[in-house]
Amino acid sequence: MRRYYRRLWAHFGPQHWWPGDTRFEVILGALLTQNTSWRNAEMALGNLRRRRLLSPRKLGCLSAVQLSRLLRPSGYYRQKTRTVRSFLRYLEKRCAGSLNRLFRQPTPSLRTELLSLPGVGPETADSILLYAGQRPVFVIDGYTRRVLDRHGLAPAAAGYAELQHLFQNSLPPDPALYNEYHALLVAVGKTYCHRQQPNCPACPLGVELENRHARG
Ligand code: SF4
Repeated sequence: MRRYYRRLWAHFGPQHWWPGDTRFEVILGALLTQNTSWRNAEMALGNLRRRRLLSPRKLGCLSAVQLSRLLRPSGYYRQKTRTVRSFLRYLEKRCAGSLNRLFRQPTPSLRTELLSLPGVGPETADSILLYAGQRPVFVIDGYTRRVLDRHGLAPAAAGYAELQHLFQNSLPPDPALYNEYHALLVAVGKTYCHRQQPNCPACPLGVELENRHARG
């Protein structure tokens, strides 16, 4: 895992994730980028930013209809409106609207609470924990699965928790490292490890794949 990281970092350099000026923006970005590209999520965030609505209290004052209009560019906007509103309700009820209070909770209980919100799955909860909360929680996404699968590092049918343990058991619990590693896996997935035709000869992990094949 460390060698893969070193190769990716040497090739791509720092990725400066997560794009977002505040913890709240990062959380909204994690909720809005589900099942869509970051570009679409960013358009919805831009709608909120232009209207100076990027705070829990201001957003909480909008009706569902008002919010859904602003979130429309992110796709699945009705569902995302419900998700964002349920997060805002939870934040208000549990933490009096304070992100400081939210992130004062221990990681396991906070993760459980985030996962109990409608529309929040493990990848989204862990993105919030890692990128907004600086917790040492590795985020598993489709690109990560693809790379691990193609390199024979994990069974194709491995579940989210199994893949997460694979990283967390091999690496020190360092949020900055997990942040960068996840971003680098996304970079390699987007640039080389395409679903249909992976460009292994040009990929920085091509050597690793060759070595694995050579070892049989
Ligand atoms: S493109 Fe090839 S070498 Fe690169 S990560 Fe995907 S399978 Fe591995």
